[in-house]
This record gives sequence, C-alpha cells and structure tokens, in this order.
Amino acid sequence: MNIHEYQAKELLRGYGVAVPRGGVAYTPEEAESVARELGGPVWVVKSQIHAGGRGAGRFQDNPSGKGGVRVVTSIEDVAKNAAEMLNHVLVTKQTGPAGREVKRLYVEEGADIKRELYLGMLIDRATGRVTIIASTEGGMEIEEVAHNTPEKIVKVGIDPATGIQGYHTRKVAFALGLDGKQVGAAAKFIMAAYQAFVDLDCAIVEINPLIVTGAGDILALDAKM
Ligand code: ADP
Ligand code: MG
Repeated sequence: MNIHEYQAKELLRGYGVAVPRGGVAYTPEEAESVARELGGPVWVVKSQIHAGGRGAGRFQDNPSGKGGVRVVTSIEDVAKNAAEMLNHVLVTKQTGPAGREVKRLYVEEGADIKRELYLGMLIDRATGRVTIIASTEGGMEIEEVAHNTPEKIVKVGIDPATGIQGYHTRKVAFALGLDGKQVGAAAKFIMAAYQAFVDLDCAIVEINPLIVTGAGDILALDAKM
C-alpha cells in the first residue's frame, strides 16, 4: 500500500524522528485554518500525490506556473495557492504525462534550510540486510546521484543479529559531513527511522531531503515509506 508524505511523517514522528509541524487540508479553507494554527511566518503548501518530484512538477492547466510544493509567507497566499493546487492535475517526472489529481494538501511550517541531505533505508537484495543509504546530495533523485556521482553515496549494512549500533550512525553522520551536536541528533534520528523501518516491515524509507537548519537541527522535510 502506498501512503502519502504526511502519513509517513506521522508514523515517523511516532518513533521520534524529527519532522516539521503540519496538518492535512482538503479545501482552501482548511488549509487556511491549519496555517493559522501553525502560526508562520513561513508555510509550505505541499501536494499529496503518490509520486515524487512534486516541487519540480507543473500543473497541467498552467505549465508555466509554480510547482506542487510552494513556499508562502502569508495566510492569504496559503489559501490562494491551495485553491490553485486542489483538484488540479500535477505532472511530475514520476507521474508520467497523465499526471495525478491533487485531492489533498499538507500545510507545513517552513524550515530554514542550510543543507539538504539524503537518507534512505532498504533491504539490500544481495545480502538481505537493512541497508542505510546516505548522501550529501539531498533534494535530487538518488538514482541520478548514483548515475552521475556514485562516490557521493555511502551504504551501511546492518547485521540483523546485532541491530543498529553507534558505529553505524557515526559512519552515516560522517559521510553526511555532520559535526558537533549534529552527530548526536543524527544518531537519534537514524535509530528512530531504523526502528520504524523494522517495526512497520517497510520495503523502503526515504527521507529526501533530510536537512540541517540554520540553528543546526536535523529535520525530515520529505518522507516516503
Ligand atoms: P518532492 O521531493 O516531491 O519534490 P519535497 O517534499 O522534497 O517534494 O519538497 C521539494 C523541496 O521543497 C525540498 O527539497 C525543499 O527544498 C522544499 N521544502 C519542502 N518542504 C519544506 C519545508 N517544510 N520548509 C522549507 N522548504 C521545504
Ligand atoms: Mg523530496
């Protein structure tokens, strides 16, 4: 079964993974009331469809307009952009030309992005082990990174007999270029995501981007599972 970004984030949050606050909306009025509750000053209005590449995607009825993930700075703009997106067809690299109709939105607090990183977990077919995939090249499709700059991807396999250990998370944190208090925050984040992966019997968990904020915090801005 496919789940939406906001549902994946809700599950991950339950395991202690750091995600921004947000709420789902089916109408522009609901989007506005979620935005009011969050408080601003920056909101992100995000199309919820079962496909990635939403930010770079375009709406079928307005190909020169904005994409499926929009950063806005007023409550009025939350409602206006929600109306432009809801019940409209979003075409992304992953939807094919037919696109997907946006039936719900996720309104989230805007994050202060300093760095965009990539964190994935999947079962390695050759070894049968849960494998963490990490890259400094967040916000891009990992397949593209694997093709163009494979040296920027690090894989860490987890032995099921021991489970995840400190040296796994340190290796990932180092590969992501994290230091100071971020190493501990990353360890907590990765352990929590790993626990979710194992408990929920996931085939994949993909956090792209995982960000470092201006304040040095680590946060999942997008989640797929
Ligand atoms: P997709 O991968 O489908 O394009 P994302 O959720 O990754 O969708 O959003 C695309 C981009 O929008 C992210 O790489 C990030 O730069 C930006 N973005 C997403 N959510 C937020 C947020 N809460 N605050 C600030 N920027 C965001
Ligand atoms: Mg993404």
